[in-house]
Amino acid sequence: MSAAAPLISVKDVAVTFGGTLKALDGVSLDIRAGEIVGLVGESGSGKTTLCRALTGLASPSSGTITVGGEPLDRLLARDALAFRRRTQMLLQDAVASLSPRMRIRALAEEPLKIHGLPLAEGRARLMTLLKRLGLTEDTLDKFPHEISGGQARRVAILRALMLGPEIVIADEPTAGLDVSVQGDLLNLLIELQGEFGLTYLIVSHNLNVVRRVTGRTVVMYLGQIVEEAATRALFDAPAHPYGAALLSTNPSVDPARRRQRIVLKGEIPSPVNPPSGCRFHTRCPHAQERCRVEMPELRPWGEDRRVRCHFPLV
Ligand code: SF4
Repeated sequence: MSAAAPLISVKDVAVTFGGTLKALDGVSLDIRAGEIVGLVGESGSGKTTLCRALTGLASPSSGTITVGGEPLDRLLARDALAFRRRTQMLLQDAVASLSPRMRIRALAEEPLKIHGLPLAEGRARLMTLLKRLGLTEDTLDKFPHEISGGQARRVAILRALMLGPEIVIADEPTAGLDVSVQGDLLNLLIELQGEFGLTYLIVSHNLNVVRRVTGRTVVMYLGQIVEEAATRALFDAPAHPYGAALLSTNPSVDPARRRQRIVLKGEIPSPVNPPSGCRFHTRCPHAQERCRVEMPELRPWGEDRRVRCHFPLV
């Protein structure tokens, strides 16, 4: 691992809702500047809560989050708008995130107004971004319902980049798009990351997206990180049985790597009353007695990998 100080550092963070629902529990994660990190796991695994915690929309009940070496709560208290300029969220439903009664031009300029930034400067940036994102000038005069899903996604990216962020958190960036435009959008996201020196956290159910775009992947289950590794190493050989099951559902493009599908028993349990010991033991095909009583720690495993399992697979 690189010795560079992480841009985002999450240490032992728990987020609790209503006093009993632990949406995150003991989450620790470092993201370095310029990285593209993928976040995977079923619905209910805590992915969304982690994104919300990183953007200051959910407050940890314990643990700390630092951004650029400064505690997030202090950054928010000092100047919440300044922090929001640094961290932008790309939402899954791009069309719904655009107000239907505003033209694209007004939508694109809205972040500048909210942040009190000079419009003249912002307009120059708008034209540069418009071109860079492959949108034509006449798009600016349209309403959101008059543009395609792919264009709406580009407008959402444009809005996010208007403020010159460092960090972009993308929730299912290609969901709902035709396969033909998904590839273009992913290429665009990768190019923009390099050009603007961005750091990405990409949440996706689409494992092909994660495999293609990210350098590192984090697997979550029931509010905890269960595995974190270089994306390539993880997709080649997951060490955690949950990661292995999740990846086995991914139709691999490489037949040599095609695995037998591992079907998990039952649904993800409720985070209000998680299983004792290893939280995955109720569904794990490799569970043993120890797993029912002793919660495994997330520990370093092999090279550049962490895994939360008493009996890792590799
Ligand atoms: Fe399965 Fe046990 Fe590992 Fe949990 S600790 S993932 S139950 S083998």
